[in-house]
Amino acid sequence: MRFKETSHIQKLMVLGSTVCNLGCSYCYLRNQHKNNAYVLLNKEIQKAWIDGSYVQNIKKVFETIECTPDTVTDLEIWGGEPLILTHNLVTPIYELLTYCKNVENMNIPTNFTRVNNLDDFLLSIDKAKKEVKATKKIEVHLQLSIDAPPGPMHDSGHNFSWDRYR
Ligand code: SF4
Repeated sequence: MRFKETSHIQKLMVLGSTVCNLGCSYCYLRNQHKNNAYVLLNKEIQKAWIDGSYVQNIKKVFETIECTPDTVTDLEIWGGEPLILTHNLVTPIYELLTYCKNVENMNIPTNFTRVNNLDDFLLSIDKAKKEVKATKKIEVHLQLSIDAPPGPMHDSGHNFSWDRYR
């Protein structure tokens, strides 16, 4: 298969985890532990991050469609909550950033309960930048959804108080 000559990949999205540590009432992940599929899928994904097959498969896809990783400028780490198992992602994210060596933005949608784990990603970024001798910055963008105004509607939907944002 050959991608069109003019096509290129700008954004790469990877699944950091399929589970979340919150149980917002309106979310499809609310009953994640009753729906074993999410838990089983998460186990498979974590295994693939740890044994290196997740990154190898990404490389295979680029090769199969004959597309360069050099045009990727955005890397998004998606979830579930992508920051709950970051220790599994330290090495793979380093490998991805050395493979897609022109990444400038790393986007992470997060519920902000585990932002301390962000240090793991920052270590990966620093190490990768040194490896590829990158001169540009890699900006880390955290994305938080605020789905209701302060008060009971917000707090009952999210299982935590709005005050946590303060
Ligand atoms: S924080 Fe986000 S992903 Fe987690 S349960 Fe709530 S809406 Fe779903």
